[in-house]
Amino acid sequence: MKGLKEILKHSANYLTGIAAAPGLTIGNAYVFAKEVLQINNSEITEVDEAVTLFHEALEKSQKELRKIFGFAKEKMGEARAAIFEAHLMILDDPVLIGNITERIKKEKKFPEFIVDDEISKYQQLMFGASEHYMKERALDIEDIKNRIIRNLQKKRWQSKIPLEAIVVSGNLTPADTILFIKSSAVGYITDHGGLTSHAAIIARSLNLPAVVGTHNASEKIIDGDLLVIDGFHGIVFINPDEHQIKYFTEKIKHLFEINEELQGLKDKPAETLDGRKINLLANVDVSGEIDLVITKGAKGIGLFRTEQIIEEIGEFPDEEEQVKIYSKLADRIYPESITIRAFDIGGDKVRQFDLQEANPFLGLRGVRLLLENESLFRIQIRAVLRASIHKNVNFMIPMVSTLQEIKKTKLLIDECKAELHNEKIPFDKHLKVGIMIEVPSAAVMSREYAAEVDFLSIGTNDLIQYLMAVDRGNDYVSDLYQEFHPSVIRTLSHIVIEGKKSKVMVSICGEMAADTLAVPLLVGLGLDSLSVSPSAIPSVKRTIRALDYSKAKKLAEECLNLSSEEEIIKTIEKFFKDNLIQRTRNIL
Ligand code: PEP
Ligand code: MG
Repeated sequence: MKGLKEILKHSANYLTGIAAAPGLTIGNAYVFAKEVLQINNSEITEVDEAVTLFHEALEKSQKELRKIFGFAKEKMGEARAAIFEAHLMILDDPVLIGNITERIKKEKKFPEFIVDDEISKYQQLMFGASEHYMKERALDIEDIKNRIIRNLQKKRWQSKIPLEAIVVSGNLTPADTILFIKSSAVGYITDHGGLTSHAAIIARSLNLPAVVGTHNASEKIIDGDLLVIDGFHGIVFINPDEHQIKYFTEKIKHLFEINEELQGLKDKPAETLDGRKINLLANVDVSGEIDLVITKGAKGIGLFRTEQIIEEIGEFPDEEEQVKIYSKLADRIYPESITIRAFDIGGDKVRQFDLQEANPFLGLRGVRLLLENESLFRIQIRAVLRASIHKNVNFMIPMVSTLQEIKKTKLLIDECKAELHNEKIPFDKHLKVGIMIEVPSAAVMSREYAAEVDFLSIGTNDLIQYLMAVDRGNDYVSDLYQEFHPSVIRTLSHIVIEGKKSKVMVSICGEMAADTLAVPLLVGLGLDSLSVSPSAIPSVKRTIRALDYSKAKKLAEECLNLSSEEEIIKTIEKFFKDNLIQRTRNIL
């Protein structure tokens, strides 16, 4: 059978983009776009019938939302599903329902017109509000309004994703991506976005093959087109021919067999052939992923991105809600541990504060924003401390650039400990506190900063963006986002060497650790632990178990002397060919 290169040479029915989440899938396209509803504003004669129709549509909308709420609770937990509960409350609001009913009777117009007009009035008020929170709620209401109107028009709920569809969209927010858990979407394709945009990270976590940054997929693809996503190579075939379908069906079967084999590694240690043990941990974005973490055999959670909670519930969770979420995860993972990262708000994540920044990635982000909003930070610190009673919780600070930030954070932690002590609330007095190394200034100062904390965790997603001056989510410059650039490799080596001088553990939790090609190099550089998306755990473990640490060290030394990304990649590829039987990066 022809190989992929050969197929591409003889085909024109494909698009290329960035391979954002590995895997292969075949399915029908669902083009995700906001639908414009046509509103009938004519007069009516049957007023009573119109009122009945309105109440029936309300009831149907409530029923639909209750179903979504139930599913969301099951998948994401109660706190995160609360947003749907709020929608249900709006549908139950007696003032709103009363106003609409009265207006139908008085104005004698189609109920869909009155619903649109009345709810839009509320929305305009909310859009005009200065708080960002109110603006977001106004968008929520748009969904509710459209739901009632569609039910009045007795139309199918079209923005519900059809079973096993491939979602095609201009862009996807992290929240959009999370909502796909609710449906059985089998993959997604976007026009924009880069490898480490959060939507892409979530897709990897949820095991959905994805190709992003295609520029024009949403124009070229129409609803119902048969698509093949090759998430390994960043290729999308549109309406594949018989040969292409046969090729990919066989590849999917082969992949399934490999996955079965990887399953067998679940209880085996992540240890090199010559006995170096690597702590292989999982990154968790949504608490629902915890089952996946456990079934994939991770030795704990190396990064829990708490800002995703805000993304999902649409507001800051209070202390009790946070204690509930963190304790649940800590209990589930026990006796292994969980590293909870403080809210990393700003940049491309969680626009909760209405900040007008010209360069948000260089602005009030991560610990900078938390220290500016101390009360918020204190609530989170207290919640993390309260969840730490079984001594398996670590706390991690994102986007650190100065020593001052570390010292101020430690002071706040001490103050929160004293408060809890006075309130006789139990917590782990020795809670480990670490920092993320994602900013070049922190990388350079690793030894001094490490002396202040219990561990370092390298966030390569941001570190590469700041080292190379490349926006991690911008597909126009994605070729400059080079994880194997010599400056990246030398910086990683510097962090490990300097961090260890201060006797702390050094790990990596950026996406680079999930790249099979990077694994021998990272192990050779001396990293103690790797934290990756749950779905990447088996393949990373397989690579570690096939490695000789002594040879990996030599590989790292060799790469540290090279001066271009191409040379480094070539050297690692040769290493795989000479030393490792199977390479999973180019499994196809
Ligand atoms: C990173 O920057 O590598 C990281 C793990 O953090 P995030 O992707 O959440 O910014
Ligand atoms: Mg980061």
